[in-house]
Amino acid sequence: MSTQIILPRILEIGAGASRKIGAMVKDMNCQRPLIVTDKVMRQLGYVERVRADLSAMNIDSDVFDETVPEPTTRSIEAGVELVKNGQYDVIIGLGGGSPIDSAKAISILGKYGGQMRDYKFPRLVTEPGLPIIAIPTTAGTGSEATRVTVITDDTNDEKMLCVGIGFMPTVALVDYELTLSVPARTTADTGIDALTHALEAYVSKKANAFSDIQAVAAMKLLAPNLRRVFNNGQDREAREAMMLGSTLAGIAFSNASVALVHGMSRPIGAFYHVPHGLSNAMLLPAVTEYSIPAAEHRYANAARAMGIAQASDSDASANQRLMAELYAINRELEVPTPAEFGISRSQFFANLSIKADQALASGSPANNPRVPSADDIIEIYKQLW
Ligand code: NAD
Repeated sequence: MSTQIILPRILEIGAGASRKIGAMVKDMNCQRPLIVTDKVMRQLGYVERVRADLSAMNIDSDVFDETVPEPTTRSIEAGVELVKNGQYDVIIGLGGGSPIDSAKAISILGKYGGQMRDYKFPRLVTEPGLPIIAIPTTAGTGSEATRVTVITDDTNDEKMLCVGIGFMPTVALVDYELTLSVPARTTADTGIDALTHALEAYVSKKANAFSDIQAVAAMKLLAPNLRRVFNNGQDREAREAMMLGSTLAGIAFSNASVALVHGMSRPIGAFYHVPHGLSNAMLLPAVTEYSIPAAEHRYANAARAMGIAQASDSDASANQRLMAELYAINRELEVPTPAEFGISRSQFFANLSIKADQALASGSPANNPRVPSADDIIEIYKQLW
């Protein structure tokens, strides 16, 4: 059986990669970039630096900086209008997963029109939008190298998963130096997100020989460096490992899939505005505990890749270590429970079946090694409390 692998055309990786933006736009024979970003990127001076690097190549750029964390259909509307009415030939997504996902959606909607829900999974979006250059500033989503965008529908709070080669950036400039400014909380949330991508890709029913190699390499880079970047944001060596690990984890899940953690995480994000990495972190231990019996050897290998079990450990003992490690990470990286985050019990319990239905509808739980029923999902949600 063969597997189709989809990747960006160019990955420029390492310190200073983002400074290649001018040459990259020139090489693509493009002249009119729209930079899609957020206000924090402006404040940090990253937007002006990209614009200056473009100007140095005589390239004028415009900026849409109104993207929001966990983008919604409404938040991207003005960006779509800019593309429809402008003469842009390339979109630069600069920021964390939210601006990059917004850039992907704007690229397709700006060129082909329609509503975001027209493009949601299970439809595969194969039409080429405006080319995208992604410049990630968090080590988390891997969106710079995935054929995925996630946009919340404002009308019903559904976090829509949209998938297809149309959402794959043409170029990714993966520059860990941009992550040196990420605050500790976001560092933790995004880092756990990346680790979750690697683990879920590795245990996914859609795992394949290619995605396995990326996932294992990602776990080797991410697991030993997660605490380091949380405790010292200026640890360049650890930041570099996390950035590469998160891109590899993105490649792994984009060419396999995510699974139950992500399926259950999206409704928590959409209903209670919990940042994506944080809702994953809340779920990761409980979902892993539920899933291990269906894939003991895979989870044990993951523990070995993470460096918390030895090759000589039995699968059972490696999995005990894995569970202990996941709980320890959440404790040490101060991941709040839903209650500590500020969600009320009545709110959380009122829509358990809606959350379970949305999780199942996203398709991700079907890729889990242990495929849950709606009742199983409800039980796991209850366990989080
Ligand atoms: P984010 O983009 O929402 O950013 C979180 C916060 O960190 C924002 O306030 C942002 O301004 C700030 N920030 C970003 N980079 C910074 C930096 N270098 N210095 C200081 N502050 C910085 O967070 P994220 O976790 O990267 O992205 C989350 C989004 O990505 C969610 O919407 C999620 O659903 C989506 N996602 C997409 C994919 C994909 O493959 N497309 C995969 C996973 C998650």
